[in-house]
Amino acid sequence: MGREVKEDGCISVFFHVLDEVYTAAMNPSPTLRIVFLGSGSSGNSAAITDGETTLLLDCGFSAREISKRLTGSGISPESVSAILVTHEHSDHVRGIDVFTRRHAPGCVVVATAGTLRAPEFAALTADRREIRSGQTMRVGTLNVVAFRTSHDAVQPVGYRVDIDGDSVGVTTDTGVLTEEAAEALSGVRVLGIESNHDLHMLERGPYPAFLKHRIRSARGHLSNSDAADALERLATERLEQVFALHRSSTNNTATLAGALLRDRAQRLGLTVPVTVASQTTACDSCATFMTEAPSRST
Ligand SMILES: [Zn+2]
Ligand SMILES: [Zn+2]
Repeated sequence: MGREVKEDGCISVFFHVLDEVYTAAMNPSPTLRIVFLGSGSSGNSAAITDGETTLLLDCGFSAREISKRLTGSGISPESVSAILVTHEHSDHVRGIDVFTRRHAPGCVVVATAGTLRAPEFAALTADRREIRSGQTMRVGTLNVVAFRTSHDAVQPVGYRVDIDGDSVGVTTDTGVLTEEAAEALSGVRVLGIESNHDLHMLERGPYPAFLKHRIRSARGHLSNSDAADALERLATERLEQVFALHRSSTNNTATLAGALLRDRAQRLGLTVPVTVASQTTACDSCATFMTEAPSRST
C-alpha cells in the first residue's frame, strides 16, 4: 500500500512536471522588464532589467528623482551597471553626472563617440564605452544593440536590449523612423515609440515658427500619426506591449496619443495594450501587462 502511494505520488509528480514544462513552453514568461521612470519633453529615463543586470536608458531627471523612482519600482539604484545614452539633450542626460558619482559608482556610460564628445559630458567622471549604430555590446547578462536615429543632435541612437530570445526596444527623439530602427525594432516584445505631438495642436500652438519647423522636420520628433505608421511597420506576432513616449505637454494630450495608436493597433488586428507613458510617474511593463486588458480586434 505504502509502495502504491509512493508510485502514485511519483506519477503525480511526473505529470505535474510535464504539465509545467508544457505550460512554460506554451507561455514563456518574459525575461526582461522595462520600467519607464518618466517620459516627456522635460525628462526621460527607463530602467531595463532581467533581475541580474540593470541598465538605465537615458538619465534625464535629477539624480535624486531617478533614484526615488527606481526605488519606488523595486530597483536598487546601486544595481545599475550601465547608462545607455541616446543623445546629449538635457531632457536625456540631466542627472547623469551626479547619478554615476553618488548613486551608482562603477556604472558605465554607453553612447556613440559623437555623443560622448558633446560638452554635456566634459565633466563626467564615470567610465565610458563607445557604441556604434549596428553594433551589439554585451553588458552583464544583456545584449545591447544601438541603431541610428534622425535628430538635431551630434550622433543620436536608439537601443534594443536582448536576452534569451526576449527583447525590448525604444526609439524617441527622431524625425523619421530610420531604416536601422525599423530593422532593429521589428520583432521586439515591448516597443517604446515616440508620440510627441499632434500636428494640429503644434500648428495652432504657442511655439515660435522656427521651433514648430524644427519639431516637424526629419531631424525633430515623431508625431502621433508618425507613431501609428511606425507601429504598422514594426509590429510582428511577437509584439505584446506598446508604450507611447516623449509626449509634449503643450502640443499633445495623452488621450490623442493613445487613441491613434490603439486605433491603428485595432485596425491591424493587434491584441496589444497601448500605454501612454507619463512624465511624472513610472510605468512598468510587468504591471501594465497584468492590469491592462489587451484591446482585441473584432
Ligand atoms: Zn528628448
Ligand atoms: Zn532631443
